[in-house]
Amino acid sequence: MQAEVIAIGDELTTGQRLDTNSQWLSAELGLLGIPVLFHTTVCDTLEAGVEAFRIAAARCELVVATGGLGPTADDLTRDVLAAVAGEPLELSAAALEAVESRFARRAVAMPESNRRQAMFPRGTRIIPNPNGTAPGIDLDVRRPDGGTSRIIALPGVPSEMREMWRGTVEPALAAMLPEAGVFVHRRIKCFGAGESAVEAMLPDLIHRGRDPLVGITAHEATITLRIVARGRDERECRAKIAPTERTILECLGPHVYGVEDDEVEDAAVRALVNAGQTLGTIEIGTEGRVAACLTQAEARRQAQQSSLLSGQVGTQAHDPLLAVYRGGMVLPARAIPGVEHESADSMKRLAERARADSGATLGLAVGAARPGPEGRSVVVIALSDGQTVEQIEHMLGGGPTLALSRAAKTAIDLVRRTLEPRIAAS
Ligand code: ATP
Ligand code: MG
Repeated sequence: MQAEVIAIGDELTTGQRLDTNSQWLSAELGLLGIPVLFHTTVCDTLEAGVEAFRIAAARCELVVATGGLGPTADDLTRDVLAAVAGEPLELSAAALEAVESRFARRAVAMPESNRRQAMFPRGTRIIPNPNGTAPGIDLDVRRPDGGTSRIIALPGVPSEMREMWRGTVEPALAAMLPEAGVFVHRRIKCFGAGESAVEAMLPDLIHRGRDPLVGITAHEATITLRIVARGRDERECRAKIAPTERTILECLGPHVYGVEDDEVEDAAVRALVNAGQTLGTIEIGTEGRVAACLTQAEARRQAQQSSLLSGQVGTQAHDPLLAVYRGGMVLPARAIPGVEHESADSMKRLAERARADSGATLGLAVGAARPGPEGRSVVVIALSDGQTVEQIEHMLGGGPTLALSRAAKTAIDLVRRTLEPRIAAS
């Protein structure tokens, strides 16, 4: 089975918005083992839409589209698909009730235009939308060569689209593939090496057709390795994933900081807890990113802990007395007269001061973003435990904003990298 992905909307064809849905869907289809042959982006007119879907359905057995399912007059995807399938639009009583009850829950009257969202070409398998009013369309259409192609149309809003993909479309497609079964995903998170460096460290794990499949993506210097296994049931999938996960951990060593939704700061806070340590910070020129990340991670940890204890999802504000992150000082670049913040010596002194001022066992100092050669910037990071001071200096690329976020993450990750061997040794 081969696929085409269609992105629908004037805001895409006029260049006002970048089509990220096609990128996301193509990566997902790839992980299912379904190659994507074409991307099409089309405006909001009926004629253009019909042409795009006719061409796509004629050359690919699977067409996945996003956008144009809303209630407004420019949302024409349902009409386009009715024309392509040669079927009339019919009202679904169940879908209408779902749309109506969404409005009823918010105690507002449903605008008449939203009725349209309960209309589907005859033969549609309706894809429920738990986060919005527009259900999706799953429809078979006849191809000129006599076969059939399957068209899946999802809303344009990325969060709705993704949830519907995970909840309904992915399992439906998996069931269609030659050996039906289930999919299990496992994400391994890494920091401290670039995407190509990580790929080079893995012995031939990332290639098409491997079972389980391993994919790699990068976001703000965090690298995610995704293992996708397919099997008869979850147990079989987990058994397939385990050896691949072990290989990744062996090859990447300390670059791996966590799994699934973990961020670098979650791993650092966890390491502080496990090592029985606390942390104070001083950061210069990072716009407070170190403090912000650590505070958020601390809040997530405490929420998780209280939900474990009470059995409920905790939303309590975090308690500063229980915090392993004791707060810090945020300073603009060159804020302290007489302190050359990029110099190694003053960073060491600041790390010691961060520790002493906050009453923590560890002090972290970060001096970031002095412009260096070729648009790169320098960050100096020091971590003090009162006796010794560890210090690193990094060149960061990727433009000013990305460099700040990388500087903060690199500093936070130094805490984890320093503590993990000590925890393992104790
Ligand atoms: P709605 O019910 O919200 O109108 P819809 O299916 O009609 O849903 P669109 O109106 O096409 O979807 O898009 C809704 C929003 O989703 C757009 O304003 C845009 O922000 C975002 N969006 C649409 N298509 C894409 C895309 N291909 N990539 C990224 N974002 C998109
Ligand atoms: Mg819309």
